[in-house]
Amino acid sequence: MDEILKQLPTRAKEKYAENRKFFNRLKKKVPKDLDYLMQELHDAEFQDIDCLQCANCCKTTGPLFTNADIDRISKHLRLKQQQFIDTYLRIDEDNDYVLQEVPCTFLGNDNFCSIYDVRPKACREFPHTDRKKFHQIGDLTIKNVSICPPAFNIVEQMKKRIG
Ligand code: SF4
Ligand code: SF4
Repeated sequence: MDEILKQLPTRAKEKYAENRKFFNRLKKKVPKDLDYLMQELHDAEFQDIDCLQCANCCKTTGPLFTNADIDRISKHLRLKQQQFIDTYLRIDEDNDYVLQEVPCTFLGNDNFCSIYDVRPKACREFPHTDRKKFHQIGDLTIKNVSICPPAFNIVEQMKKRIG
């Protein structure tokens, strides 16, 4: 996995123009069965992936925290919401709450998440490759293929299947 993660940013950069073109086209002409195709590709790719061997998303990019996330996690940590925000979060350029630093503070050396059961929705759903209306998150996916090996492979498969 280390070698794959080391090479991933370069491989994603090489595919950047092709991926941009593909997602621009996809937005204009959305295949009827896209949701089914994405579920199939996502399940096939993730069935052999052990995220505990990777944790690259937790190490290199943080989730955004919704109000519901903040409420749930601060209760779990027995902190007041404002205390949780002041300790762990900052507001980014899009006005969203994000982590003050990456790798994520809640990630252990063993790659386990210490708040796994109550982790942010964005963490649960990353890399969003089984999301409905997947064509709407082309920009995000182009970024995620440089972080997440399965996301990279899923997009390669998509291009083969959709053309
Ligand atoms: S979701 Fe992707 S980047 Fe995150 S741990 Fe799993 S394989 Fe790695
Ligand atoms: S909250 Fe947990 S799953 Fe989310 S980035 Fe941090 S360690 Fe990873």
